[in-house]
Amino acid sequence: MRLTHLLLAVSAATLLAACSPRTEALAPEAAPVETEAATVEKPLHVAVLDCGTIKLSDLDIFSTAGDYAGQSDTFTDTCFLVHHPKGMLLWDLGLPGMLVGNGEMTQGVFTVSMDRSITDQLAAYDIAPSDITYVAISHSHFDHIGQVDQVQGATWLVNQKEKDAMFPPDGSAPYDPSLAPTFAMFSPMKQQVIGDEYDVFGDGSVVIFETPGHTPGHSSLQLMMPESGPVLLTGDLYHRTESRELKRVPSFNSSEPDTLASMETFEARADRLGAKVIIQHEPADIEPLGGIIR
Ligand SMILES: [Zn+2]
Repeated sequence: MRLTHLLLAVSAATLLAACSPRTEALAPEAAPVETEAATVEKPLHVAVLDCGTIKLSDLDIFSTAGDYAGQSDTFTDTCFLVHHPKGMLLWDLGLPGMLVGNGEMTQGVFTVSMDRSITDQLAAYDIAPSDITYVAISHSHFDHIGQVDQVQGATWLVNQKEKDAMFPPDGSAPYDPSLAPTFAMFSPMKQQVIGDEYDVFGDGSVVIFETPGHTPGHSSLQLMMPESGPVLLTGDLYHRTESRELKRVPSFNSSEPDTLASMETFEARADRLGAKVIIQHEPADIEPLGGIIR
């Protein structure tokens, strides 16, 4: 497929948007005896991966209030590899790998580019894609599912509502038919359907929770980090620092009321935990991390 075809297949409405929890218990094996050495060697940490750049020539569609019309901005596109002593979770799958080495591609108000694939970045950590235990997407928009082809051996933790939007149970076309070929690449993966909140490793340190509205099953990620303390990754509940402050809702969201309700519950969680909030598309949140959350 030519890149031009790829981008033409991507509607603007799909460029920016989530994923979610499950409820299955961990395998009923004996609780691992965590030696002091193992704890020291493998504390929870998160590698922050550069999964592309998105330049917006006009932000109008990112606020139903109309106040973003004519503004431009640059978004990061970020993936997060969560290293837990019991396995690895890759959160979000970025822009399509085909962009690597092909410069900038423009469609409408969006100009996208990517320097390195997920696989290439994992290699720097001496990790192969086959080492990844779980994959979860904040949601199924174009810029969060682009490299699913690289992680086919992982188990996909998927929110039921998001899965139903991608694969309608009645057999009809997905909410954006142009994404169907990419959605199809999730089908061969091992899958685990999760509910509104899912504790990935069973110890409360990595929790996927539902924040619907951007898409029907959009989700965010809660991390309890050894050094940073509680951290919340927004998915695309917010796209910019300002859109969080002003509670701006993109016009292409699946539900504005659901989005506003999710913002409320998200902020209540952030307050309750005293959490650091990271907006995944916001360079001001991503760049200071220096590639890692500890
Ligand atoms: Zn996005």
